[in-house]
Amino acid sequence: MASTTTAGRSGEESRGGEDEGGMSVSNAAELPVRPGEDPWTESELAEVRSGLEAEIAGLRDGIAAAESQLAERLTDAVEGAGDDPTDTGAKAYQREHQLALNYNSRELLAQSERAIQRMDAGTYGVCESCGKAIGKARLQAFPRATLCVQCKQREERR
Ligand SMILES: [Zn+2]
Repeated sequence: MASTTTAGRSGEESRGGEDEGGMSVSNAAELPVRPGEDPWTESELAEVRSGLEAEIAGLRDGIAAAESQLAERLTDAVEGAGDDPTDTGAKAYQREHQLALNYNSRELLAQSERAIQRMDAGTYGVCESCGKAIGKARLQAFPRATLCVQCKQREERR
């Protein structure tokens, strides 16, 4: 593996000072893109961000609703214990199912929140594995992506 590519490294060494002054730096144009892609514009980034924010709000609602349902079912299960074993089994299954759904929602929520944090930090679009650009087109399709296509495929082949 003798890779001599220099993509994604330009201008990095001149940074490093934390003297920007402002608290929230708007830096859409500084986010990495793949060769041949135009830099992010503020409005493109804002669009991806608001999509993520809407998703975060929806996931939070869903998790809260599922949790209150779960709480109700738990009370049911205790009150109905000993009634009918099939019914209790079905309830337990439903509860498992609900817990699994909730787990997935939490995972998605965490990924969405991390994407927003990466936007704020100016590291959005950097592949977490190889450090190159994930690519704007890919992020517009999968805003939560943390790996470039190559690294993602390598991971899936394992
Ligand atoms: Zn990568």
